[in-house]
This record gives sequence, structure tokens and C-alpha cells, in this order.
Amino acid sequence: MVVRPDVHVETVADVTPALLEELGVRGVLVDLDDTLIASNATLLSPSAEGWLLSLRLAGIKVAILSNGERKRVFELAERFDLPAFALVGKPFPFAFRRGLAALGTPREATAMVGDQLFTDVLGANLAGLVSILVRPLTPGKLPHTRLARRLERRILTGGTRDSPVDR
Ligand SMILES: [Mg+2]
Repeated sequence: MVVRPDVHVETVADVTPALLEELGVRGVLVDLDDTLIASNATLLSPSAEGWLLSLRLAGIKVAILSNGERKRVFELAERFDLPAFALVGKPFPFAFRRGLAALGTPREATAMVGDQLFTDVLGANLAGLVSILVRPLTPGKLPHTRLARRLERRILTGGTRDSPVDR
């Protein structure tokens, strides 16, 4: 099913360099809100910061691929010296093409890590990337986000693959 993630984990910290190597992934596109940082926060958690550092040390390329507004996305990206795209238009394939061009990795060696089935996972699957779903850091502030979360839970409880690596 096209909204089923290849891998489902709790948080970005579970997307270790070892797991990525096992998946053959050398580049990571990461969603911002409720994936890397809580949508109501302005600072990354130490855990998320440590994760970014661990990928950098492992030589894995990272870019932020967000549908969020420019100011927030670029301020955070600048702090960590990451390429970033805001209001990028996930789940449409052009959004992922922009991310892939920034990373320079082929799609099959690139993962999209995000918290939403209908933007991050659906888009990654349509674009031929490895899709990695994390549990959202907050319930979301927008009504349409909350509605999407309800639908996501319904789909996921319909029998998601629950092992960390199951493709
Ligand atoms: Mg998100």
C-alpha cells in the first residue's frame, strides 16, 4: 500500500547510521515539524541534535524537506548548517526531486524521515525513496493535522509492519 512506511520507528534517534547502512541509504531528507522538532518548540532536543551529529559523522547527507513556513524552517536549518526547503509541496514528486538534487544521492539510496503518512510517507513512496515514519512529537496544532492523525492511526493499526527493518 502506497501509504505504508518501509520502516516505522519511534523517533529520529532510532534512525541510526547502522540502520541506514542496512537499508543502503546514504542521504536523508528529514521533515521538520513533529519529526525533528516539536511543532510548538523553537529548539531541537539534545536527542535530535545528537542524531544530526551522528549522521554527519557517518558521512550521511541530510537536508530538511518541510511544508512549513520559510522563516521557521530556514532559521533552524541555518543553525545546523543544513540545506532546507520550506513550503516544498510534499507529497508531490517535484518536492522530492528538489531534495534529491540538494543531496546528490539516487532516490533508492535516499530516505525520507517524517511523521505524516499523507505527506512524508506517501510522497516518499511515490518518488521511489525509502520511507521512514516516526511517531509525531505532538498531536499537532492545526485541525487538518489532527484529522490526518486520526486517519493515520486507522491505517497503521490495520497492520503496520512493526519490525524496525522490514522491506
Ligand atoms: Mg511533520
